[in-house]
Amino acid sequence: MKTIIKYSVLATIFTLFFVNVQAKSASAAEPLKIICSFSDYASIAKEIVQDKGTVQFIASGEQDPHFVPPKPSFAMQLKKADLWITTGMDLEGWSSTLLDKARNKKIMDGAIGFVSVSDGVKILHKVEKGDRTEGDVHLMGNPHITTGPLNWKNIAHNITIGLMKVDPENRAFYEENRDAFCKHVDVSLFGEELVTMFGGEMLSKMLENKTLFTFLDKEYKGSKLSDKLGGWLKKAMPFRDKKIIAYHKNWAYFCETFGLDIIGFIEPKPGIPPSAKHVQHMINLIDDQEIKIMLVASYFEKKSPKMIEDKTGIHALFLPLFVNGVEEVQNNFQLINYWIENINSNIK
Ligand SMILES: [Zn+2]
Repeated sequence: MKTIIKYSVLATIFTLFFVNVQAKSASAAEPLKIICSFSDYASIAKEIVQDKGTVQFIASGEQDPHFVPPKPSFAMQLKKADLWITTGMDLEGWSSTLLDKARNKKIMDGAIGFVSVSDGVKILHKVEKGDRTEGDVHLMGNPHITTGPLNWKNIAHNITIGLMKVDPENRAFYEENRDAFCKHVDVSLFGEELVTMFGGEMLSKMLENKTLFTFLDKEYKGSKLSDKLGGWLKKAMPFRDKKIIAYHKNWAYFCETFGLDIIGFIEPKPGIPPSAKHVQHMINLIDDQEIKIMLVASYFEKKSPKMIEDKTGIHALFLPLFVNGVEEVQNNFQLINYWIENINSNIK
């Protein structure tokens, strides 16, 4: 009897040891599978996860983010995912069908593999009481957070938390990569010199509170601080405070950061196609004001913007909204460069 017990204890110990070794070697051999709704989140996730996982995205760079057809292959991708990175607002309304089909408990809302990147982002255009019956697609406020580089730091932070939850062993690695990414954002936005002098956090706070340019107007050692401004903010000065028209509220966060004043939209409401009457209303509005361009995400219909262009002479600037929307834009940094360069060369 004693021998049987001894053997059974030994067998249990052996089994536990063996299973444990197997689990560990499996996790060491298998990189994390990260699926993002959009290419812009994938671009940020890649910088943080690096060689510890594979990163894929669902919507292509030239698709309307509100309306992505839920293909069965997307559900298959989600089925095997360790982490699902999504805006966490109502932008990816199409994802609930995919998550239902994927039946992956690890990545459902509330599970550790679910990352809502908008957590902590200062959301613009919050609505008191939305009404979806009219077709409005921004009922939780403006979900196009990818267009504002200040938001990327928040997005990176949320992705890092998600990675640390599913892979706590590499916590320090993810935090280090997040910090390097955030520093890259700060330097790209303000330039190296100002970031060295004041730190990215202080400058970002002032930019968000709209006090940065008053601060930069101050004298420092015989010259204005604004002389030290570099990066995208300097590059975007030619269009700061200029009035524009947009098709949809896509570029709200970009315009907030770079001081573009959007005075009207080709759509009467987000997600609702313009009527002939509304297009005429826009033409009248443009005639009364000093407006040079309208920004149109390249996935929208071209007819209404072209008609406005013909009637008013302002330029319809069709731009990709996401990373991979055009071949030369392979990451978020290249996307902002692309937008600024195109706006600069069309607004003069
Ligand atoms: Zn939208």
